[in-house]
Amino acid sequence: MTAMPLPKDHYDVVIIGAGPAGLAAAAVAGKAGLSTLVLDENAQPGGQIFRAITSTPVQRRDILGDDYWRGENLVAETRAGGAVIVQGATVWSLDRDLQIAVSLLGQSQIVKARRVIIATGALERPFPIPGWTLPGVMTVGAGQTLLKSSGLVPDGKVVLAGTGPLLWLYAAQVLRAGGAIDAILDTTPRGNYWRALPYALPFLMSPYRAKGLALMREVKRKVRVVSNVTSLAALGGDKLDAVAFSAGGAEQKIAADTLLLHQGVVPNVNLANAAGVAHRWDERQLCWVPVLDADGNTSVPGIAIAGDGAGIGGALAAAERGRIAAVAAVEALAPGKKSLTPDRSELSNTLRRAELGRAFLDVLFQPAQQFRLPEGDTIVCRCEEVSAARIKETIALGTEGPNQLKAFLRCGMGPCQGRLCGLTVTEMIAQARGMSPDAVGYYRLRPPVKPIALKELASMPHSEQDEKAVVRG
Ligand SMILES: Cc1cc2nc3c(=O)[nH]c(=O)nc-3n(C[C@H](O)[C@H](O)[C@H](O)COP(=O)(O)OP(=O)(O)OC[C@H]3O[C@@H](n4cnc5c(N)ncnc54)[C@H](O)[C@@H]3O)c2cc1C
Repeated sequence: MTAMPLPKDHYDVVIIGAGPAGLAAAAVAGKAGLSTLVLDENAQPGGQIFRAITSTPVQRRDILGDDYWRGENLVAETRAGGAVIVQGATVWSLDRDLQIAVSLLGQSQIVKARRVIIATGALERPFPIPGWTLPGVMTVGAGQTLLKSSGLVPDGKVVLAGTGPLLWLYAAQVLRAGGAIDAILDTTPRGNYWRALPYALPFLMSPYRAKGLALMREVKRKVRVVSNVTSLAALGGDKLDAVAFSAGGAEQKIAADTLLLHQGVVPNVNLANAAGVAHRWDERQLCWVPVLDADGNTSVPGIAIAGDGAGIGGALAAAERGRIAAVAAVEALAPGKKSLTPDRSELSNTLRRAELGRAFLDVLFQPAQQFRLPEGDTIVCRCEEVSAARIKETIALGTEGPNQLKAFLRCGMGPCQGRLCGLTVTEMIAQARGMSPDAVGYYRLRPPVKPIALKELASMPHSEQDEKAVVRG
């Protein structure tokens, strides 16, 4: 099937990502009469939380829960606002001239924008433990994607391990869908409960408290939960056979066919980083976040970031951040249309309420150092199969930072472009050299930020100017 060219090659606003942030932004910009294009790599709109909302085979609404079904209204609102939503569209480049390279059905084209809103969301934090590359080991997010888009739950002996709200949500969804879980190995450090206390009051006033406690109670009624797990290893030859773990000072082992790992989500920084957007290290969320103003504007003029890509805030906050970034785009591009947009201060109040309790969750579910800084033969870079020991050896040789390490070991050079090793590498260098992660820095990313075929690049339409540029080299 040949790709249909995009309806136009220039728009007022181009939004990358059709999760809550992108959809909400597109609804506001479209309703205000700006020509708006949403590009998303998935087959259906919805992003992570509302994945496959328009096509999921899971029809019993209690399984995925009310929060999931709120996505139906948001998709309808965006479509009604007149924005053009293109699915199956992978954006692999965004430059300072606001030119976007997008791959559709194996063909790439350039689209130009007056404003870009990056709403590419979050990724699951790497969880490098011994054996995490074994067949049978995957992430909780991948398991949930199979449930939302195909109605599948894992069978056989199933173990979940890690920390964070998504782990408990997915466990409850699996149980409601008729699946079974043999054990949950909870790696939340006991000390985190004390460290989170100073942030408890806003959390107690937020909707997260009741929801979170209800989820945990629902799961603990049916599943053996081992808390304060301090080490983990996936065991097996050519596939997973068992999980070794220690808790309460005792070494234990449990047979498993499937191990689902999760230790939180972090902003998906690749496109913004490659576009030259400034980022800083967030000590509480232990990850890179873009440097933004109150409207989500970045250090690159014309590029804004909204949603979990702006720092983890959850789905409600993501939608509000999308609306705020879209209002700012309307104010900049069509001030006369301001009356067609939601009230800015009301959006800020809703955002503040949605972020209530976030600090408590960030500190409570901060993954332990031993699960962020692997040792020995544990693979750090899955694409290039680079182990922690190799990385440590090379750092000890006096490696400056992640980019020099990349040149020496190829870690971060594979198809995932550092999504699964970047944070680990930064923290390993910081620890070895006694520096802050902010001072160590991150991989300097370049397009394409998503893999594309060379023939696709070669067959792109290009202007005489491009040819001259290439010849000039
Ligand atoms: C695997 C996973 C599962 C989650 N499940 C839940 C859940 O069930 N409930 C919950 O409350 N929270 C969940 N979250 C947290 C989630 O981050 C937020 O709740 C919410 O979805 C964030 O909204 P967003 O619009 O910022 O980003 P997302 O919802 O993440 O949407 C971003 C969209 O951008 C697309 N995209 C990314 N890069 C590109 C590109 N280069 N080109 C084109 N498209 C691109 C992504 O595929 C995605 O569709 C999950 C997070 C993850 C990582």
